Amino acid sequence: MKLTHPYCRPAGPWLRGNLHTHSTNSDGTLTPAELVELYASHGYDFLAISDHDTFTPPLAHPTLVGVPAVEVSRGGSHLLSVGTPQVYDTSLTRAEILGQIAADGGLAILAHPNWLAHYQHWEQAQLEVLGPYHGIEIFNSVIDFLEGEAHALDRWDQLLSKGRRVWGYAHDDFHRPGNGPRGWNRVAAAERTPESIVAALQAGSCYASSGVFIERIEVDEESFRIVAPEASELRFVTRYGKVLQFVEGGSGSYTFQGNEGYVRAEAYGRGKQAAWTQPVWVTA
Ligand SMILES: [Zn+2]
Ligand SMILES: [Zn+2]
Repeated sequence: MKLTHPYCRPAGPWLRGNLHTHSTNSDGTLTPAELVELYASHGYDFLAISDHDTFTPPLAHPTLVGVPAVEVSRGGSHLLSVGTPQVYDTSLTRAEILGQIAADGGLAILAHPNWLAHYQHWEQAQLEVLGPYHGIEIFNSVIDFLEGEAHALDRWDQLLSKGRRVWGYAHDDFHRPGNGPRGWNRVAAAERTPESIVAALQAGSCYASSGVFIERIEVDEESFRIVAPEASELRFVTRYGKVLQFVEGGSGSYTFQGNEGYVRAEAYGRGKQAAWTQPVWVTA
């Protein structure tokens, strides 16, 4: 049995941040400075202002690391380009833009797959053939206020089950007060810099959350252990969303059998709040 996962490197300090916000430079109601103050006041460690097809330079702040980002929006389904100040030519195809983001060393995340009344902002067939990208939004807070579904765990499990090694991320897509702060990624970054945070996000050294904190994620040769003190239930999930094991409380472990393909963990808290780890790949 061979296990491959993003939690093996020595974890740096956990840093928490949101990569998807809009300012008055596109269709948001808060200025960049107001966004930075809002997220800093909630204890966030990093923030990306990802205006639609517009680069908003990160602002210097004593506690909040600014990560450069743009939401590629016109001309097709939306995606986040994180880590570079580049604005992409939206007359190009999404595949061409993803190729450019990869060439620029950026982090590419496909946004809100289940947005709109047909729940198909990104069609599953597109997600399956398109590349390269690092992952998809498995939670987008603003979709709770619009038609569609904020979560996209169903989409992610289908991709993972077909062997696409892509990560899950959670974001606010903040446009106006009330949209968050709610969705975030907690990252094991080596340093408190945009470069280090983006590298850890690209490597999947992070987990996604809509409000639940996971304190420890441990994988050894036999088991997958989670400690999330405030969670009331843990779930270990495999191909096509099948739950392998339910655990009452916030601490528990799963013993690998060797034939799962992948196993990921979920920690449930109050209401619909949850946290989602990245998958551990289990191969013979
Ligand atoms: Zn969008
Ligand atoms: Zn957006």
